[in-house]
Amino acid sequence: MAPISKSEEYDFLVIGGGSGGLGAARRAASRYGQKVAIVEKSGRLGGTCVNVGCVPKKVCWNAAFIAETIHDAAGYGFKLEQKAPFDWSSFKHKRDAYIKRLNGIYERNLDKDSVEYISAHASLVSPNEVSLRATDGSQEFKTVKAKKILIATGGYPIVPNNIPGAEFGITSDGFFDLETLPKKVALVGAGYIAVELAGIFNALGSETHLFIRGETVLRKFDPMIQEVLTNHYEKIGIKIHKNSKQFQRVEKSESGGSLILHGENGTQLEVDTLLWAIGRAPLVNGLGLEKAGVESDREIGFVRVDEYQNTNISDIYALGDVCGKVELTPVAIAAGRRLADRLFGPPEFSTKKLNYENVPSVVFAHPEIGAIGLSEPEARAEYGDENIKVYKTSFVAMYYAMLENKGPTSYKLVCVGPEERVVGLHIIGLGSAEMLQGFGVAMKMGATKADFDNCVAIHPTSAEELVTMT
Ligand code: FAD
Ligand code: NDP
Repeated sequence: MAPISKSEEYDFLVIGGGSGGLGAARRAASRYGQKVAIVEKSGRLGGTCVNVGCVPKKVCWNAAFIAETIHDAAGYGFKLEQKAPFDWSSFKHKRDAYIKRLNGIYERNLDKDSVEYISAHASLVSPNEVSLRATDGSQEFKTVKAKKILIATGGYPIVPNNIPGAEFGITSDGFFDLETLPKKVALVGAGYIAVELAGIFNALGSETHLFIRGETVLRKFDPMIQEVLTNHYEKIGIKIHKNSKQFQRVEKSESGGSLILHGENGTQLEVDTLLWAIGRAPLVNGLGLEKAGVESDREIGFVRVDEYQNTNISDIYALGDVCGKVELTPVAIAAGRRLADRLFGPPEFSTKKLNYENVPSVVFAHPEIGAIGLSEPEARAEYGDENIKVYKTSFVAMYYAMLENKGPTSYKLVCVGPEERVVGLHIIGLGSAEMLQGFGVAMKMGATKADFDNCVAIHPTSAEELVTMT
């Protein structure tokens, strides 16, 4: 049997083979020649993003987008003979094969960069020792030493623990295991995942029910985004149950083939699939934080770090979803690379860290949403009403000119001070995801409204409205 690890001691031991861990490990080894190992317990590299997150989700979003385009084709003169049937099963297996290929590419990349890949569950036993338990069924144990340790163990989706039968529901992890497209699905939650998966189910033909606690989805986003998306989702047929209270219980139907959701006042809804999308918690169970003395936040368990990703214990660092600051793949990767630069790079990198301000983010809803910086209420609270100027526009994108059913397009710029520095940019409409990155660069450079206006528009696009707003 191959030994669980090749060495007894490492310069840098990374726990978690996801976005952040891979970013840090590869940079430390390839650029700075450190002796690095990465420990991953799931048997597949890439973490949440590659296996049960961004990547398979975006493939599903693409499928949903094609379904919508086929629907729109008649408006452009295409005489489609019949409704194009969608074969979820073959789609799912092709998507899984793609992810498997990616897992292999990640493994080869580690090899190329001379990072040792250890397939095991890792647990801290002291500030510089980690116990490894093989996950291949051999039950082999080994303890290794490390000069520096990175915790990048990510998170997991929450399922309520106070609703009888809640365990009959699935989460986003289970979404990617679905072998058939549910005819009728209920999602609970109002954040990124609820909105993205509800949009996919609806576009592919499931009767989609979305249970939200408030009046709108995406309550952490600018009010314009909340209102436009909530209204549009209702218009395209998603049944949004607003101000909904927690289910009393969930039970299996007599045949066992469906679930009955028991709401308030005796209301019931029978569905094929129930999906919880109510947030994620840090994966710290069994990680031995207490043995090494690493502090975490008491309420949720996020590992506490300073702006340099230092925990309270020297030579132990943490980043990515396990810290719960901004739970996005590029954030975890950027934090990981900067940490490796700071720890192992030249002296001029000794203060390198990730700036968590103005991180662009996209929600792959239907249509997509992009946001950078402060929402209008946040900007008003931070700078005062008198210092804020807001530019807004809503229009029908040219794509819809030939169609009866129009999708929304709404843009907002939030500007501060006499120089009108852009501190918030919020967009919803076709193409928003691809549009956002460049505006992110502009905002990072401190662009003002005048800078936006100085850029000549590209016509005919939707994006041109962002540089011609009055
Ligand atoms: P992870 O990628 O979760 O990696 C952690 C790894 O650590 C896992 O592989 C886990 O198995 C391993 N691990 C945990 N404990 C141990 C242990 N004790 N020993 C060994 N290994 C361990 N972000 C975007 O930017 N864009 C998107 O479109 C997007 N879509 C998403 C869609 C969904 C459905 C979800 C759930 C998330 C999405 N995200 C998206 C968020 C993104 O996936 C995460 O922010 C990112 O993966 C976090 O990276 P990480 O390295 O912190 O953790
Ligand atoms: P989010 O934090 O985005 O949203 C969860 C929402 O669920 C809350 O905002 C809350 O909304 C609602 N909620 C919380 N508890 C309950 C409850 N008990 N009952 C009903 N509703 C509840 O979490 P997600 O799970 O959607 O996603 C986790 C993170 O993953 C995201 O924050 C994001 O960082 C990342 N992600 C990024 C994506 C992207 O970049 N495109 C895609 C997917 C995930 P309210 O207060 O309005 O009720």
